[in-house]
Amino acid sequence: MSGYDSDSWGPATLGVRAGHARGGEQEHAEAIYATSSFVFSSAAEAAARFAEREPGNIYSRFTNPTVRTFEQRLAAMEGGECSVATASGMSAILSTIMALLDGGDHIIASESLFGSTVSLLVNHMSRFGIETTFVGLSDYEAWQAAVRPNTRMLLLETPSNPLMELADIPRMAEIARAAGALLVVDNCFCTPVLQRPLDLGADLVVHSATKYLDGQGRCVGGAVVGDGERVGRRVHGFLRNAGPSMSPFNAWVFLKGLETLGVRMRGHCEAAGRLAEWLAGHPAVAWVYYPGLPDHPQHELARRQQSGFGGIVSFDVAGGREAAWEVVDRTQLLSITANLGDTRSTITHPATTTHGRNTEAQRRAAGIGEGLLRVSVGLEDVADIQADLDRGLSSLAIR
Ligand SMILES: *Cc1c(COP(=O)(O)O)cnc(C)c1O
Repeated sequence: MSGYDSDSWGPATLGVRAGHARGGEQEHAEAIYATSSFVFSSAAEAAARFAEREPGNIYSRFTNPTVRTFEQRLAAMEGGECSVATASGMSAILSTIMALLDGGDHIIASESLFGSTVSLLVNHMSRFGIETTFVGLSDYEAWQAAVRPNTRMLLLETPSNPLMELADIPRMAEIARAAGALLVVDNCFCTPVLQRPLDLGADLVVHSATKYLDGQGRCVGGAVVGDGERVGRRVHGFLRNAGPSMSPFNAWVFLKGLETLGVRMRGHCEAAGRLAEWLAGHPAVAWVYYPGLPDHPQHELARRQQSGFGGIVSFDVAGGREAAWEVVDRTQLLSITANLGDTRSTITHPATTTHGRNTEAQRRAAGIGEGLLRVSVGLEDVADIQADLDRGLSSLAIR
């Protein structure tokens, strides 16, 4: 539980301050409790802890003070009652499904989900009798039409990867409520600094802490945020038995990440906005996908739902794969990697990496062409990022 009275604090303050209960040493920064287990003062206390008659630590697969600080801070930032930290973003999604659904239940999910999330649903959850129907992210009629009597969960990411399409969260919450299903939002791209899905009607938020929450590409981790019953009792109950817990060291790194999340997200947004405008005016660029641009079809929704447009910019170059690869290969500053949310700008060719396992027909249906590039805009000087991209782009423009 985020048990302190900081309801009036803004997200930056919460990121720096929330959840920290000082130990006996009056330490200023959070301590790392690198311990697998905890001792009891008596046999009776041990018995009471194990019987859950009294609260307290037993074993770090269940709870750990450093991990708890991270959970409380993130819960406060998302405006949730409770959070459970996990070993990765994928185990946050797995734990949510395993804790809250039964065999025979049905999920409706966005077509534009992270690749491993799609694999988890299609190749693994299906074996336990949980079926998923995929629909277009902002095709609200399709979500509605896919509802069945056994639908228990609606799962989406907004904005989507890599085309930066949005879903209207309050509208999705209405569909979920009418269906008697939970709305689960993967808030990886926006973080609570730019968007708080729980305030907009979502039931649960899942995170890959690996991305912006860490923000410096150091650790893999995840979290689920929501109410005390579903997250605090049921998701935590699954986690403590199944075991994908976050390590105290990683929790400490993520705490350091949350402290700078406010300034970093503002920096990412500012740089991405400037890069998107520059790309939109470049003769070699056919289209730019960024919700901050006025010609983005959901620009108004983005203004309403998010307090910033995010750090990811995608764009199409004319000339297909050859041209796109040329832009990638001519970079010297940008990192060629599929990771995102880092201080270092990264460049990805989705059609041959993150979406390479999809069939060409699937990619075409999703709008992911051979000329598409995705940049996760880091915190370097924007002029240097532009110059790095311009090496390849200007060579295309003069052909
Ligand atoms: C990376 C990512 C995940 C998975 O997180 P891991 O920490 O890599 O397990 C889930 N959702 C989104 C949107 C992601 O970008």
